Amino acid sequence: MTRGGDSLVEKSVKIKEKKKDQILIHKSREPYLWSDQTKLPHNVSVFLPEAPQCPIKDTVKQKRDKEYTDRGKNRKTVQCLRIDRRIDPILYLPVTSRDRHRLIKWRMHWLPSYSLQDCRCGATAATREHYTTCSLLQHLLKNLLGAFGPIPNLVSPQQPNDHILNRLPRSEVGLTLGKWRSTWPALLYVLGEIDRLSHPADTYNYVEEPALEEALQAATSITSPFNI
Ligand SMILES: [Zn+2]
Repeated sequence: MTRGGDSLVEKSVKIKEKKKDQILIHKSREPYLWSDQTKLPHNVSVFLPEAPQCPIKDTVKQKRDKEYTDRGKNRKTVQCLRIDRRIDPILYLPVTSRDRHRLIKWRMHWLPSYSLQDCRCGATAATREHYTTCSLLQHLLKNLLGAFGPIPNLVSPQQPNDHILNRLPRSEVGLTLGKWRSTWPALLYVLGEIDRLSHPADTYNYVEEPALEEALQAATSITSPFNI
């Protein structure tokens, strides 16, 4: 039986091919995360103890972990962070707003000042590395290392300040325990002095700052919102 030149069989085949094309187009528009999610063994290995409880959540985590690893291959700022991806405690631990700016700028490699300025000791274009040996900073570095303890050999571009930041407790209560009672303010004093030394005296905006120890004491009554 024919109609308009095509047999019913030919029309049926054409309709099937059109539907197949539509499905392929739909699949191609799916988010790539969904595509990966479908590969997870959640529907074939539910009886295995390692079966993911939440495949979408696991897929997002895998993607973010991979992004973090990839960025670490060519970005020095990421190479100085922890190996595992997590919220950096410097974003919420108790400090003055000025100290928090310094902590973040150190992480961003904007401290020492960007572009690099001469140090007040006379070193030209003083780098982060310079501030591990600067003669004007030695007394504060000594206090910091005395409080924290020995630093292992680090792989460049990591600096001792990075190593200490990567081991910060994840709650303000942790800062009141053990070595962190003295390490945390000592680290902030070091960063504050790097900020001062890396700016010429006539451009440095000196502001009277509250004692760091007082800020830490005030925080002991606060409960961490992160429960960590
Ligand atoms: Zn210097």
